[in-house]
Formats: sequence, structure tokens, C-alpha cells
Amino acid sequence: MNESAAFASPAADASQASSPAVPPPLWLLAELTYRCPLHCVFCSNPVNYAAHSRELDTAQWLDVLREARALGAAQLGFSGGEPLLRDDLEVLVAEARKLGFYTNLITSGIGLTEKRIGDLKAAGLDHIQLSFQDSTQELNDFLSSTRTFDLKRRVASLIKAHGFPMVLNCVLHRYNLPHVDRIIEMALAMGAEYLELANTQYYGWAKANQAQLMPTREQLEDAEAVVQRYRETHGDLCKIFFVVPDYFERRPKRCMNGWGAVFLGVAPDGTALPCHAARDLPGLAFPNVTAQSLRSIWYESDAFNHYRGTAWMKEPCRSCDEKEQDLGGCRCQAYLLTGDAANADPVCDKSPLHEKVVSVVREAAVARSAPASALREQPILFRNDANSRALAAQAEHTDHTSDTAGAVR
Ligand code: SF4
Ligand code: SF4
Repeated sequence: MNESAAFASPAADASQASSPAVPPPLWLLAELTYRCPLHCVFCSNPVNYAAHSRELDTAQWLDVLREARALGAAQLGFSGGEPLLRDDLEVLVAEARKLGFYTNLITSGIGLTEKRIGDLKAAGLDHIQLSFQDSTQELNDFLSSTRTFDLKRRVASLIKAHGFPMVLNCVLHRYNLPHVDRIIEMALAMGAEYLELANTQYYGWAKANQAQLMPTREQLEDAEAVVQRYRETHGDLCKIFFVVPDYFERRPKRCMNGWGAVFLGVAPDGTALPCHAARDLPGLAFPNVTAQSLRSIWYESDAFNHYRGTAWMKEPCRSCDEKEQDLGGCRCQAYLLTGDAANADPVCDKSPLHEKVVSVVREAAVARSAPASALREQPILFRNDANSRALAAQAEHTDHTSDTAGAVR
């Protein structure tokens, strides 16, 4: 971390953060595997996921669930990659139910057969979140680089037939924002109780594809107006969430409701994370559940204490009267856009680096003026093992080059 000597070390200050009593985690996100049959261009998994192929076994995951529940976690998401690729999912769901978790399966739907959904119901699964890439087969299949649209539609009927509450999730970006009305109609036709329209967050693969995915302000405003109309006319049938993208705001979100405040993620290999995108942050040794208890990870590890509270902050956050509201925004976004995770999230217009965000939005508007047919001809990176290895090698080469450059200087 390139922290200025003018400000105290965050690690040293973490124990004096503004809230000395650390609450227990509320959410456990169990990322069971990074394997996935889809290749989404906005996937939030790390771009170098192929380098992290090890997975906890069933007994290890059962221990994670028991420890997390004993800590106080009450909500449990089974995610991935595609969690249905784990054939022990039913065992994990049954244990989670026994422990008293409220369980949610976050899935692309691929692999959710009649038998599996019946077994998951019997095991006590509470909730299923099914993702679509778009309301059209063409775009759904293009963005995931698979032919899965019809399959997902069949899975949606299965979810309803088995009496699960259904959240339909669709990640929004410049390609599908103009289809928001059709996406809502699709959700209504499928009987979804909730529709989450989540504008792309630019981490992982979405960051690699940012130039292709970033919408214009007009696209967003049009889509939001459509959402509002549907809320007024159909709000009692389906609750529609519209998550505004950070880049178009002037204040950042209180990311994960605070670092190490409510969210505890466990990656497939057992790495514990305060945010599922955090593993790319440099200078933090994220603990592993196979080597340390979850209790000690949550309360004592440097990684979970590092950005807790406000004591780690640099200016302008340190003396800002809004710091308790947004806690300085997102550490991953600060790192990705400014190179220092301890900087203010540059979404904030008080940040001296806010221009970094403004310029991305400006460039998107310029790119949008290109003919639509040209957009798909730009290189777009699909999430797959070959691209993951190539990006990891590229990052390693860059690190090595900058190390060498540093030595020469
Ligand atoms: S975003 Fe797509 S590729 Fe990534 S885990 Fe989800 S379904 Fe798989
Ligand atoms: S300066 Fe920091 S604390 Fe203040 S509003 Fe901006 S991001 Fe939040």
C-alpha cells in the first residue's frame, strides 16, 4: 500500500476504529466453486480464477457453516461459479437448514433438474435467485457465450412449480439497458416475486470489459424511468430493485455496508474475504478457513480489521463530515481506479481523483456514438479458463516489469 507518511498506518489504527465493539457477521456467502458452464463477460469472479482451482471438500464446508452460524451469521448464500456443479450441495443445504440459516441458492440455473430441485426442496432450501443475461435469446446467449436461454426459462418454471420464492436477477449494461421493459415483462410472465436489475459493478471480468459494457447516462435515465412506471403499475406483483451504478453518482455506496461489518465471504479454496472482490487487493494476507477459525478470522485477522471503521482513512475522508455514512466507499474501486486502496473511492466528487470516474463515463458517451454494429466487433473478453490464464500471466508480467523498472530507477 502506498500510504502517505502524513497519515497513520491503517493496520496499527484498526483496533481503535470508531466502533470498538465489532458486531458478528450477518451474511455468509459460500462461493462453493469457481467452475461455471457459462462465460459471462461481467462475471464478478476474479479474472485469475483459474489459478485458484482448489476447492474445500464437503467436511470443510460443513465446518464453515457451523462456525459461521455459531458466530451469529443468519443468512447464507450458496454461490460460485455455479454452485450446482457441486454434487454435495444438497448435503450442505440440509446442514444449513438444521443450523437455522435462511438459505439462498444463487444460480445460472444450469444443472437444476427436476430431481435436483426436488432434493433441494426436501433438504430445506428457502430461496432461489436465477440469473438471466437478457430477455432475448440472442443477447442472453451472446453475453454468456452459451446456448442457455431456453434452459433458463424451463428452470424458471421448475422453480415456480416447486413453490420457491423466486428472485430473477439481470445484470445491466449498455447492451441490455434498452431492453429493461422486456426484461420486466419476462419476470412478470415468469411469476418472479422479485426482480433485481443490477447495473454492472466494474470488478473482475466486468472491469476487463468496461469499455464495452459502460452505458451512457441517457440509457440509465431512460431505464430508470421505465422501472418507475412498472413499479407504479405492477409493484404489488413483483418488487423491482434497480441498483444504480456507482460511476454515475457523486457519493460512493457504503460498500458491503462496511468492511468486516456484516459480510463474510468464503472463496472456493477457503480464503475468507470481507468482500468477494477483495482478493485482488495488494498488501493484505487473506486468511484461510483451513488454517484459522472463522471467529479468529472475523475478530482478529489483519485482513478483516484493516479497513474496519474509519481510523484507516486518509484525507479527504479522514476529516469529512460524511465519513460515517459511506465509510469512504469501496476499497476495491479505490484500488482499481487510483492504485491505492486507502484512497477515497473516486466516485466521490470530493476525491482529488474523481476525474478518473468522470472520464470513464465521458468515454462511454463517445463510444456510444459509434454505430451499434461496431460495438460487438471490439474485443470482448469472455470468462473462460484460457482467458483467465492469459490475464494472470499478463498481470504477472506487468508486476515483474514494474519491479524491474523500480530497481533500475
Ligand atoms: S456471472 Fe456468469 S460466468 Fe460468472 S459465475 Fe455467474 S453464471 Fe457463471
Ligand atoms: S470524502 Fe470520503 S468520506 Fe467524504 S463523502 Fe467522499 S468518500 Fe465519503
